[in-house]
Amino acid sequence: MRLVFLGPPGSGKGTQARMVGEKLGLPQISTGDILREAIARKTDLGEKAKPYMDVGELVLDEVVLPVVEKRIMEKDCMKGFILDGFPRTLGQAIGLEEVLQRLGCAVDAVIFIDVDDTVVVRRLSRRRVCPKCNAMYNLDTDPPKQEGLCDRCQVGLQLRSDDKPETIEARLLVYRKNTLPLVEYYESRGILKRIAGGGEIGKVFDSILGELSEARSS
Ligand code: AMP
Repeated sequence: MRLVFLGPPGSGKGTQARMVGEKLGLPQISTGDILREAIARKTDLGEKAKPYMDVGELVLDEVVLPVVEKRIMEKDCMKGFILDGFPRTLGQAIGLEEVLQRLGCAVDAVIFIDVDDTVVVRRLSRRRVCPKCNAMYNLDTDPPKQEGLCDRCQVGLQLRSDDKPETIEARLLVYRKNTLPLVEYYESRGILKRIAGGGEIGKVFDSILGELSEARSS
């Protein structure tokens, strides 16, 4: 299956994409993770992405699209993949459609995880990340065993630079303007699956698996 996970920042799409990927044996492709790694390694891609990511803006389509195009050509993506955080603009969605058409396939389902802004702000400001292994914690619902330290690496947890309150607001505005129109785009193609993302991680996961098994059998 070729899946897209769509939703506002803090909707839990990264967590759910990872869980679904593990369950279905599909690679999770997070453009946010790829770009953050490029910034950490100070590559050309990282240099191009950093100014936008620092302020919560979107990295340019012409920068992101080739990254995804290259990644989905890799061998582990032959049987399918989960795109997490891509596409985020209409231009990216059209670009993706063209790339997949050339490969003789298409997106099978789009999981849209819907949550209120108040939930987003609360979740992102309480989110902490391990700078070494990228593990995510939430100080309210999924705290580390030892305060401030990653369970796996024992490294000090950090607030992501774009999870600061002023950047969260900017990301929400960008999401509404650029990414929300994709809901209609995929709905009109009949492949959008709407999931209420405000509940517990396990319940959201079950709803997604339910929608996917329906999509597979139809
Ligand atoms: P995420 O980890 O998905 O929340 O993404 C973090 C940041 O990376 C976003 O705020 C954007 O600056 C950038 N980014 C990630 N994916 C994309 C994308 N598909 N298009 C443009 N920018 C992106």
